[in-house]
Amino acid sequence: MKIIVSHDVDHLYAREHYLDMILPKHIIRSKFEFLRGYISFSEFKSRFGELISGRLHRINELTEYDKAQQIPSTFFIGVNKGLGLSYSIEDASSAINFIQSKGFDIGIHGIAYNDPLAIAQERLKFAKIAGHEDFGIRMHYLRQSADTLKYLSEAGYLFDCSVAKFCPTYKAGNLTEFPVHIMDGWIINHGKSWQSVNTEKALDNSKRLVESGLKEGIDYFSILFHDRYFSGCFVTWRDWYTLFIEWLKSNKFEFTSYKAALKAME
Ligand SMILES: [Zn+2]
Repeated sequence: MKIIVSHDVDHLYAREHYLDMILPKHIIRSKFEFLRGYISFSEFKSRFGELISGRLHRINELTEYDKAQQIPSTFFIGVNKGLGLSYSIEDASSAINFIQSKGFDIGIHGIAYNDPLAIAQERLKFAKIAGHEDFGIRMHYLRQSADTLKYLSEAGYLFDCSVAKFCPTYKAGNLTEFPVHIMDGWIINHGKSWQSVNTEKALDNSKRLVESGLKEGIDYFSILFHDRYFSGCFVTWRDWYTLFIEWLKSNKFEFTSYKAALKAME
């Protein structure tokens, strides 16, 4: 079983959310986490600092970390807006170019999921910015209908990684599906809408899932960590990610990427 690490980029700057409820909801959630004792007062305060600084992404820090750890991660960026993903196409282009310049794979963080024409258009829009068509997709919020994988296959995608199912990779038409096995939010929120475990419990639960993956014969174990949480504003989230990576490395798990896995499967 090899490990694949990926990062969804849901937000770039605070200014994207001046007209929506994302930031007020974030403050309320943080207050709740502080009152319940899951985050310290300084962490609570640092979240205001993040909003004042205006930068919500941690692409620079995470590419540095993953590079140092030799993790060939894939970053998923949106080129359309929807469900709280609101950055401009100019900001998306800068992020795509930056990540590629650092030597990491990129993929599209999909918004269109139930309209074949919109899916095809979104793919072309992304390809123009990326400068190639060699990429896969993960839907924002893992959204899908009964026909999404069929539409993605027809649009020419190499792979999808939006299915939350504890199973090995499988084919859907010409498309290879890499299911998501661990998402940061599932682990840290643990069934709630706010942080409800500490780092130790988050790590224990994750190790158990890796062990189940081995038992279930999973070939590529996929981990999803949102770049925004690689920050001192989200201590448990960041520590969970770094400690989990360290644990996987010390247990001699090999890391690969979606694209390298596809090639190995040919
Ligand atoms: Zn997303």
